[in-house]
Amino acid sequence: MYSEGEGYVDGSPITASSIDQLAQQHFPLCMKSLHVNLRKNNHLKHFGRLQYTLFLKGIGLSLEECILFWRQGFKGKTDNEFNSQYKYNIRHAYGEVGGDVNRRGKGYTPYSCQKILGDSNPGIGQTHGCPYRHYSVDNLVGFLQATGVNDKEVLRGVREDVGKMRYHIACNRVFDATHKNEIKKVKEDGSWSQTDLDTIVHPNTYFKRSFLLKQMAKAPKDA
Ligand code: SF4
Repeated sequence: MYSEGEGYVDGSPITASSIDQLAQQHFPLCMKSLHVNLRKNNHLKHFGRLQYTLFLKGIGLSLEECILFWRQGFKGKTDNEFNSQYKYNIRHAYGEVGGDVNRRGKGYTPYSCQKILGDSNPGIGQTHGCPYRHYSVDNLVGFLQATGVNDKEVLRGVREDVGKMRYHIACNRVFDATHKNEIKKVKEDGSWSQTDLDTIVHPNTYFKRSFLLKQMAKAPKDA
């Protein structure tokens, strides 16, 4: 269960200009898909923007940096178009505007896997949702390969999971495979307990766990 601040990594350099790199290295497939589509089309439709904005908020991107991220991402829009059509919704998601309840509650909470998986299927041109559930299995495997997941056993497992509608199990399978060495290390040196490695059920947990594992692997041994 996600709670406020869950995906936030203290002291990590999360700015508009670091998102490209973070997306490649640490984002779950749902957010990679949104990121790739944003870069390809210089635009995302409403539900994709909302899903992605809330995730970015959850990893610790400030409101100012989030506005900058979207402004730079929507290359074809003028400042006037951006300010009048998109900026308010970003500020609303962060709880800076809107009714009292929205402002007091600091806007919306980042979406869990359950919410993303349970929402209505994306229509034509929409990019929100979970690729494990909403892509055709061949497109899903193609996308995984494009992100560097090429292990045949892993891809076979993903096909099987998806066939049984075990979408988040497929996602966890990919996480485990792409962080295999780091997970082995934290298990062997006892620095992480089994609870730290529980099944991931939230995109922000995916990010945070990935980020921390890779940081630990980079740290000097006796630091
Ligand atoms: Fe994202 Fe959850 Fe789907 Fe993984 S299972 S891609 S984290 S929605």
